[in-house]
Amino acid sequence: MDCFIFESLPGRVVFGPDGLDQLSHEIEHLGAKRALVLSTPQQVSLAQEIASRLGERCAGIFARAVMHVPVETAHAAREEADRLGADCVVAAGGGSTVGLGKAIALHSSLPILAIPTTYAGSEMTPIYGLTEAGLKQTGRDQRVLPKTVIYDPVLTLDLPLTMSVTSGFNAIAHAVEALYSNRPNPITAMMAEEGIRSLARGMPAVVKNPHDLEGRSDCLYGAWLCGSVLATSGMALHHKLCHVLGGTWNLPHSETHTIVLPHVVAYNYAAAPQAMMRIERAMGNSNAATGIFDLMMQLDAPLSLKEIGMQHDDLDRAASLVMEAPYYNPRSTTREGILRLLDGAFFGRRP
Ligand code: NAD
Repeated sequence: MDCFIFESLPGRVVFGPDGLDQLSHEIEHLGAKRALVLSTPQQVSLAQEIASRLGERCAGIFARAVMHVPVETAHAAREEADRLGADCVVAAGGGSTVGLGKAIALHSSLPILAIPTTYAGSEMTPIYGLTEAGLKQTGRDQRVLPKTVIYDPVLTLDLPLTMSVTSGFNAIAHAVEALYSNRPNPITAMMAEEGIRSLARGMPAVVKNPHDLEGRSDCLYGAWLCGSVLATSGMALHHKLCHVLGGTWNLPHSETHTIVLPHVVAYNYAAAPQAMMRIERAMGNSNAATGIFDLMMQLDAPLSLKEIGMQHDDLDRAASLVMEAPYYNPRSTTREGILRLLDGAFFGRRP
C-alpha cells in the first residue's frame, strides 16, 4: 500500500427516519438558545414545522434562500441573524439553503445545524459559494462546515422525481471524481464506492415508488458519503466543466452534473482504471461510462445540454474557459478533447 493522507472533518450526524425528532436534543447539544431557521420560499412549511419544534429556542425564520447565494440575500440573512440575536443557524433544504447558512457562518462563525432534503452534499463540506453580479466565487473555510447534520429520509419523500434523480447523479459525480482525485486514499475510496452503490440501489427504487422509505434512506445515506468525499478530495474535470457551464450560462446545477457525468467518465476511462473498476463494482455494470448513461436513461434523467438550454455555438467558449484554468485531471485536458466531450453531452449521445 502506498503512503497516503486521510483527513477527516469534525461533525456530528443523526441519520434515520424521524431523525427530526432529535432536533431539540441536538440544538441543546450545540448549546444554542436562539436559532434562526433558513429555507427557500418553497419549503417555508418545513421551516415553520422546525420553528414549532424548537419552540422558545427559535429566534425566527428567514425563508428567502435562492440558488447560488446572491450576496444581497446573504447580507439580508446576516442582518436578520444580527437583529434577532441568533446564536445558531438551522438550514433546512437543499444546497441553496445550506449555502445561505454558510454565508452567515462565514462572517459570524455561528454554528450551523443542517437538515438536508436533497442529495447535493453541501452539508458535509467546508466549501461555500457566493454570487455577485452574476459571478460565483467559491472558497473553503472551516467556519462554514455544519456542526451537526440531521439526515431524515422522511423529509425527502416529496422531493420531486426529476430532482431526486439529478441530485442523486450530482452526488455520484462527487464520488466519481474523489475516486480518481490527485489525493487518493483507501478510506475515501471505500466511502466513495459505498456512496455510489447506495445511490445506484436507491434511485431505481425511488423512481418506482417515490415514497419508498428504504430507497429514500439508501439515497440519503449515499448522498452523505458522497458529500463527505467531496469535502476532502480535490475535484477534477467534471466539476470544472459544471462550474463553467453553470456559472457562465446559468444552467441548472444538478441537471448539468447529471448530463456531463457519463461523458467525463468516458473521457477519463483509460486514465483511471482503479476508479472505473470501483464504479463498475458499485453499480454492477461492466463499463462505468455507458453504465451511468444507461441508468440515466432508465431513470428518465435529462440526457442532453441542448434540452436544458445550452446553445451549440457556446461550446467553443466553454472549452476555452475550461482550458484557461484547468483543474487536475487524470487524463490531460486538451481543447479538442473537451470540445468532443461537450459535443457528445450537448446531443446526449451514449458515450
Ligand atoms: P436547491 O437547494 O437549489 O433546491 C432546489 C429546489 O428544490 C428548491 O426550490 C428547494 O426548496 C426544493 N427542495 C429541496 N428539497 C426538497 C424536498 N425534499 N421536497 C420538495 N422540494 C425540495 O438544489 P440543490 O441541488 O440541493 O443545491 C444546489 C446548490 O447547492 C448549487 O448552488 C450548488 O452550487 C450548491 N452545492 C454546494 C456544495 C458545497 O459543498 N458547497 C455541494 C453541492 C451543491
